[in-house]
Amino acid sequence: MAVKVETPVLKVAIVGGGPGGLATAVALRAVPGLEVTLYERAEVLREVGAGISIPPNSWNVLDLLGVDSLTSGHPTTAVLNMNGKTGEELHRVETGSLSSRKPIRTQRTALQAALLAHVPKDSIQLGKKVLGLDNLGPSGVRLTFADGSTTVAGLVVGADGIRSVVRDSVWPEYPLSFTGTTIWRVLLPVDAIKDLDPRFMTTGWWHGPTTHVYFSLVGEGMWEIAARAWQDPKIHGSSKVSWGTPVENEVVEANFTEYLPQVREALHRVPKGHWREFAAFAGPNLATLTGWNNRVVLVGDSSHALSGAFGSGAGFAMEDGWVLAQALASTNNDLSKALPLFDKIRVPYYTRMYAHLDNEAKRRALHLSQLLEPSDEERVRNKVIKIEGTDMKWIYANDIGKVWRESVAVVA
Ligand SMILES: Cc1cc2nc3c(=O)[nH]c(=O)nc-3n(C[C@H](O)[C@H](O)[C@H](O)COP(=O)(O)OP(=O)(O)OC[C@H]3O[C@@H](n4cnc5c(N)ncnc54)[C@H](O)[C@@H]3O)c2cc1C
Repeated sequence: MAVKVETPVLKVAIVGGGPGGLATAVALRAVPGLEVTLYERAEVLREVGAGISIPPNSWNVLDLLGVDSLTSGHPTTAVLNMNGKTGEELHRVETGSLSSRKPIRTQRTALQAALLAHVPKDSIQLGKKVLGLDNLGPSGVRLTFADGSTTVAGLVVGADGIRSVVRDSVWPEYPLSFTGTTIWRVLLPVDAIKDLDPRFMTTGWWHGPTTHVYFSLVGEGMWEIAARAWQDPKIHGSSKVSWGTPVENEVVEANFTEYLPQVREALHRVPKGHWREFAAFAGPNLATLTGWNNRVVLVGDSSHALSGAFGSGAGFAMEDGWVLAQALASTNNDLSKALPLFDKIRVPYYTRMYAHLDNEAKRRALHLSQLLEPSDEERVRNKVIKIEGTDMKWIYANDIGKVWRESVAVVA
């Protein structure tokens, strides 16, 4: 008689219920031999952001996850860059050529709801803020929560965002710092500002030398405004810790007094109490996203603290979750094989992003230094100029299924 050998169940603790944590939970459903629990500090799963772009790379991973319920959103047919003071159009991209799937801008809550619909309800524990982790060696990892409780898991997935507690526990020296950029975001009904300028109907950035205001429709009759301003972090760093905190309209408007009247009026029409402030943080590239002898892995913003630099961080987070699930499934949950495989695929990808941003910053700084005393107009132009032929398909058209198949073929 054949003896059935039971594979021991691996307890997986996902910390964080953003796009990364939810996508990981969805992807891990298909992996046998796991007991998955997602711990989220919020009492209700509700994202405080505003809009989110879904480029072809995000569609690709949503397809692989089997998430087909993201139906609301506004198609992004063109993206404009304009001088916010003069209205001059500086750059225009007609989108949609990257793949047959059209990019959209939607509300973050719509993406969250679409993912959540595929996560078993009893696997989510809300109001569970992780305070820290302890490495118990072969016994696993202990998670300690703010309510005083603890649990032990065989694998911890750090999906707890850019200010990750999981990352802090394993990489205590990781230097996360304020970039100098403050972001204010709001959603408001289309009718509130559509009379002001027809160009607001097209996704676009209106720039000053160190600021910009972004307008985009996000579907369901709503508009998103995201405004950014940069201040020297050496002077303003210590006070900037806000993340989704309410802010007075006057604080936002004071940064854009040089802008065209219609842009200023749009900011002015935002109902009081609706703006939310986010301070942008960033940290260096990690050489590995796995720690404590393959007991901890980082996915999403915790794994690459780039502060939304490519506007596709939710896509990256979902790709991470899907790749992690493939790595576990293909190794029969052998962490000593699965996590290095995850690293092998995702570390070079994030390294390439850091290198790209570094090169861009150097190129702009060089160009600016050659202008000697640049006017505001030249500084704005310098912000938005693109290198002709720069191909960003490796991000926005990334086909993570193909990447996985090719990586496994190389390993095999
Ligand atoms: C201004 C701005 C604009 C952006 N625009 C886009 C865009 O257009 N498209 C796009 O794809 N991306 C965009 N991004 C990036 C995107 O928001 C992030 O990359 C994405 O949300 C990352 O998902 P995540 O799951 O890794 O982290 P998060 O979304 O940050 O989720 C982390 C989750 O972990 C929870 N958590 C945190 N700490 C703990 C703890 N100690 N214990 C338990 N739970 C915890 C949080 O409550 C949260 O639910 C933008 C970011 C910013 C700041």
